[in-house]
Amino acid sequence: MTSYILALDEGTTSARAILFDRSGAVVSCAQREFPQSYPKPGWVEQDPLEIYAAQYATLTEAVTRCGADPAAIAAIGITNQRETVVVWDKTTGRPLTPAIVWQCRRTADACERLTREGLAPMLREKTGLRPDAYFSATKLAWILEHVEGVRAAAEEGRALFGTVDTWLLWKLSGGTIHKTDETNASRTMLYNIHTHDWDEELLSLFGIPRAMLPTVHPSGAFYGNVTLFGVSVPVCAIAGDQQAALFGQGCFAAGDAKNTYGTGCFLLVHCGETPVASRAGMLTTCAAVLSGERPQYALEGSVFVGGAVIQWLRDAMGLIRETRDSEYFASKVPDTAGVYVVPAFTGLGAPYWDMYARGTIVGMTRASGRDHLIRAALESIAYQTDDILRAAVADTGLPLTRLRVDGGASANRLLMQFQADLSGTEVVRPASAEATARGAAYLAGLTCGFWEDREALRAHFADSTVFTPRMSEEERAARLAGWHRAVRAASAWAADRGAE
Ligand code: ADP
Repeated sequence: MTSYILALDEGTTSARAILFDRSGAVVSCAQREFPQSYPKPGWVEQDPLEIYAAQYATLTEAVTRCGADPAAIAAIGITNQRETVVVWDKTTGRPLTPAIVWQCRRTADACERLTREGLAPMLREKTGLRPDAYFSATKLAWILEHVEGVRAAAEEGRALFGTVDTWLLWKLSGGTIHKTDETNASRTMLYNIHTHDWDEELLSLFGIPRAMLPTVHPSGAFYGNVTLFGVSVPVCAIAGDQQAALFGQGCFAAGDAKNTYGTGCFLLVHCGETPVASRAGMLTTCAAVLSGERPQYALEGSVFVGGAVIQWLRDAMGLIRETRDSEYFASKVPDTAGVYVVPAFTGLGAPYWDMYARGTIVGMTRASGRDHLIRAALESIAYQTDDILRAAVADTGLPLTRLRVDGGASANRLLMQFQADLSGTEVVRPASAEATARGAAYLAGLTCGFWEDREALRAHFADSTVFTPRMSEEERAARLAGWHRAVRAASAWAADRGAE
């Protein structure tokens, strides 16, 4: 009788391993950080061996700490930071170059060239993505072009490419399994989300030999067995972190949406079997499905500065000591008294896409004080989320019934209530904050029969906190109008820069 599902959650700065039992409870958890390096401005790298070592250490710790019998682990599910590129030599098992992390901007010029050459519509149609250094394709092309010996190794069939999931699985399996899942593949800009295969035209555009690429499978599938503590355990799921979180929040049907309030915010809206193309510049991506199911899709939008605006209040402005204090100070005033903070520190993402906009504070009077400013900064997280939520609703034509939330800043009750008020929808926060690992566990557990079906998971969400909208329609409209005016001010500042 098996008792656990082991989720491996390999994030951008730390790896975690979590054992879930059949009731969905976390039995054991271990976490280990690993470093990033910044060899040049805008460059971000990691050591693939450090990523693997951190993940393996957490796995060992999580299992041994609670005394779990390894034979009682029904299956493993892997979830990971997406887009990051690892290239290794399959004969030596060693990386051929540091991993290029998704945040790395070294290929920004190459992406601008793609746009100038008019390739954006083709890329968008095939992959659901926009030409941006974020995605794997230009990073892998960069490695093939610039790292000595990699092109030759690829042509000899020795060099393998993988996102972090693929690298972990290959290492865990002793170099025998070279596979990925659709959610990760759909973030590479090499994968055609309609034909469900690597795209020949894109491979030739980026100069990528097909033999380097892993085979692609549904997220919930039998990937092969790995040996842990002398016991053979099946790997039954892989999913990129955001799609795993969508699944882990129980968002299984068209119109279900989740937002993760971390440093940035990641909003995903499930689109069912239709690959909805966004008119507002959101991305179309594959959602996690189980083997044998028809493909499903999601729209994805992100807020660049989410919880980070609270860190800014703390670190740059010195207005609070701890990020959680933002709730206390914001609660001391009934509203911002007309003050808006637009935290466009690095431009504005969907639906505005203004890379030149900059942070702006408007509406200050002599009566404006610290508490108003803190509240306005906090509210800006909800306004930005609302912008992409409304864009997604317009794109899909689906009504939004509730928004599931997770991530560090979702602990802030004032923010969650304001989100419900502003978006006119219920905001549902599960008791467990582990949506990403939970998603990988659910996918693995459903695949191996540990849980019977999605319905069997419903009970796990019983003690969620629900925030219900209380704001009147007039007040909501007035506040949103003020926010949009503030955003226009942030853009106008940038548009007027020629006048300097
Ligand atoms: P990440 O995974 O991006 O590192 P987390 O999910 O750990 O992010 O969330 C951290 C972010 O949440 C930080 O930007 C922090 O400012 C913000 N945050 C954490 N707690 C609160 C809180 N109580 N109120 C507002 N923001 C918070």
